[in-house]
Amino acid sequence: MTTLKEKRIIHAVHERDLDDFLKSLGLLDSLVKKDLKCSICGTVVSRENLRFVYPVGDSIALCCDKPDCYDKIVAARTKKSE
Ligand SMILES: [Zn+2]
Repeated sequence: MTTLKEKRIIHAVHERDLDDFLKSLGLLDSLVKKDLKCSICGTVVSRENLRFVYPVGDSIALCCDKPDCYDKIVAARTKKSE
């Protein structure tokens, strides 16, 4: 049941826990250095515009706070789980 697991990962990201969460994924340094990009639009992701984090295969992808990017990821993921 990967779907449940993935949902839990996404919901784990709340502002207060974000640093700890990113640190546990090994992404915090990259975020601070602005090395992380939105997987959809390529915008550099920071604490301010990080919408959510989600697993892609063995790695982790990030989504910025643009509604378009969010919609695309949700649509893609919904399609995949059908
Ligand atoms: Zn984006």
